[in-house]
Amino acid sequence: STPLLYAVIGNPIEHSRSPLIHRAFARQLGIELAYEKIWAPIDGFEETVAAFIERGGRGMNVTVPFKLEAFDLAGGHSERARRALAANTLVFPTNPGEPIYADNTDGVGLVNDLAFHGVKIADRRLLILGAGGATRGVLAPLLQEAPRELVVANRNPDRAYGLVEEFSDAAGDCLLSGCPLAGIEESRFDLIINATPASLSAQLPPLPDALIGAGTAAYDMAYGAEPTVFMDWAEERGAHALDGLGMLVEQAAESFALWHGKRPDTAPVREQLRQEIREAAER
Ligand code: NDP
Repeated sequence: STPLLYAVIGNPIEHSRSPLIHRAFARQLGIELAYEKIWAPIDGFEETVAAFIERGGRGMNVTVPFKLEAFDLAGGHSERARRALAANTLVFPTNPGEPIYADNTDGVGLVNDLAFHGVKIADRRLLILGAGGATRGVLAPLLQEAPRELVVANRNPDRAYGLVEEFSDAAGDCLLSGCPLAGIEESRFDLIINATPASLSAQLPPLPDALIGAGTAAYDMAYGAEPTVFMDWAEERGAHALDGLGMLVEQAAESFALWHGKRPDTAPVREQLRQEIREAAER
């Protein structure tokens, strides 16, 4: 029989680790699948998806810059995708005429990765750097865990204020606020999440030392063979630093569970991916 067909779509897409992760999950659970990388032109997302469905594609992961378009393309949405207005996971209908279903597993991926590392959210003070698509995707799932306070800090502060307004009804008892990246209150946070791509160009946002104290965790959504500049900055000041590799594996696990109805064990795949990234850097 032909294996079930899946893919990750983006632009650029060459460096995506999603095929490695999904193939590892499939091996672990004895599921036969094919998982491809698909590059789409910036103005050709819909046509590329249609051609993939035509070939028998059952589902897709969606990455930069198509998450908003993926949401718009779908006729059915999970609650968390509706909150984010963005989708990283699509399920294609097996019967013609049925709608495409969209989900967003990025936020639960972050929350599950923090839990994996024993980082607590409930009743804690959280700071998120950045107000782009990644922050939009994780805000509701983070607020669901009932932090005491959550500050969104962004270079363009209006984007931070906008998100705060948009998510105020999901805040519950959490004190949710926005501020300029260069104007963060000089007090200690329990968890600082870097949701900017600054680390990818070895840039460090302007952060006061006072943000870090005993027990602070610093989480960079970026990842690579070496700790990022943000992780180095945080660790030098006594924080416990984590990169975004676990989030990537956990969001994939959630997509996998949606498609296949089975939840993979992420621990061995984290290890495998870490090793693969190290080896790729040495090549
Ligand atoms: P966006 O382009 O949507 O948003 C980028 C945000 O970062 C904006 O708020 C922008 O500020 C800010 N920013 C960009 N460059 C800098 C800089 N040099 N200094 C300070 N702030 C900066 O990106 P995404 O939100 O989609 O992604 C953010 C990062 O998260 C990426 O590195 C992405 O790879 C990573 N990511 C990781 C995931 C994982 O699974 N590990 C999942 C999703 C994302 P402004 O508004 O002022 O321009």
